[in-house]
Amino acid sequence: MTTNFYAPPSSIRGRRVVLPAAEARHVRTVLRAEAGDEMAVVDGRGGWYRVEITHVAPEQVLGTIVEQREDVGEPVVDATVALGVLKKRSRFETFVEKAVELGVRRIVPLRTQRTERDSVRKERLRNLMVAAMKQCRRSRLPDLAAPQSPEALLAASEADVKLVCHAGEEATPIRRAMVEAGDASALVLVGPEGGFSAAEVEAAVAAGCTPVSLGPRRLRAETAGLAALHSVMIGSKDPPNEARSSRRPTEPG
Ligand code: SAH
Repeated sequence: MTTNFYAPPSSIRGRRVVLPAAEARHVRTVLRAEAGDEMAVVDGRGGWYRVEITHVAPEQVLGTIVEQREDVGEPVVDATVALGVLKKRSRFETFVEKAVELGVRRIVPLRTQRTERDSVRKERLRNLMVAAMKQCRRSRLPDLAAPQSPEALLAASEADVKLVCHAGEEATPIRRAMVEAGDASALVLVGPEGGFSAAEVEAAVAAGCTPVSLGPRRLRAETAGLAALHSVMIGSKDPPNEARSSRRPTEPG
């Protein structure tokens, strides 16, 4: 099977799946599917389904669930990455796409002292996230939070581990910070192009963040976000797919 298809929970009733129109077109063009073929469908909330196609029309594809699993492709660690809103939208978009592939659970655009832009194109980013989720065969669509300040985010965060990426002398190598933390939910803060101000780093530390280093090179913000995310992912236990995916009975139609 080439890619997963996306059907939000509202398009799944019992064993019956009605693909949204855009997905239906995709199934027809990519898969050239016919009734009787199978496809993998995810609902963005952890549901994964093997679906037998029962009907194909120009704007409509219907199917029946023949197997159901949960959290296929999902990591154990619950990782949130907060990245300064970048001046170049395309760099933030690159970050979002790759972060979904690496297993991020939530992305928070940060408004900081040195951000030069304060909004993101929410709809466009969401579309990128859906495409990345399908392509990399995850079953959960990560959250995209509204742009906010580090203070507001830290005040509301219940993450077990909070890290602020900062290339300072006092920073701990991120690998060490994660090994000490073990399995956990983690929040990682990464600055915009201009970095965090000293006051912002201090405030983050006061709010419970450990300053962490990503090595002796100064990375671009989006690279730093991805590198930090991957360190968090491999610093926690991440069992193979099969161990995580449990079958659950489908509800009667
Ligand atoms: N001009 C800024 C650099 C910003 S890089 C300065 O001199 O401070 C953008 C962000 O990426 C930083 O705020 C930091 O969060 C992260 N970052 C980049 N390289 C890093 C490294 N080696 N270790 C930790 N964080 C890093």
